[in-house]
Amino acid sequence: MPPRFVADSMLGRLAKWLRAFGFDVFYDPFLSDHEVIARARERGAIALTRDTRFPDPADVRVLVIGSNHVSEQLAQVAREAPVDLDAARPLTRCTVCNETLAPATRDEVWDRVPPFVYLTNEAYARCPRCERVYWEGTHGPRIRKQLARVASSSGTEESKE
Ligand SMILES: [Zn+2]
Repeated sequence: MPPRFVADSMLGRLAKWLRAFGFDVFYDPFLSDHEVIARARERGAIALTRDTRFPDPADVRVLVIGSNHVSEQLAQVAREAPVDLDAARPLTRCTVCNETLAPATRDEVWDRVPPFVYLTNEAYARCPRCERVYWEGTHGPRIRKQLARVASSSGTEESKE
């Protein structure tokens, strides 16, 4: 099972990128520290925070993120949480609401994508909650590029020895 996360209010971009990689991240900018901990406990998730004075209960894993830059944040998560980047599943989760995406055909989404996209992409994924539509041609390369950058900077080669 891939790890799940709950991100605190300062880590909205990190939450979006982890979702773009396919990981389950609960994020609500209005949660207090204690609510973040409670959510993480409920979900068996790792709590992610930027706050060095964040509570550190014995029964919830808390990862204090050191950097302000999202690529470095992702690299830290890849290093310190049991995240297998090879198992990342780009375009399987809505980056806005964390919902698992459902496959959609071109004819199901024709009115929700630009004409050029409609003409050049066959396969789509749609969020059942917010109806956002994702497709490989635009979103895939950007996500894969970030994944490759994170894999190279997280030192996964070293840890394999
Ligand atoms: Zn959505």
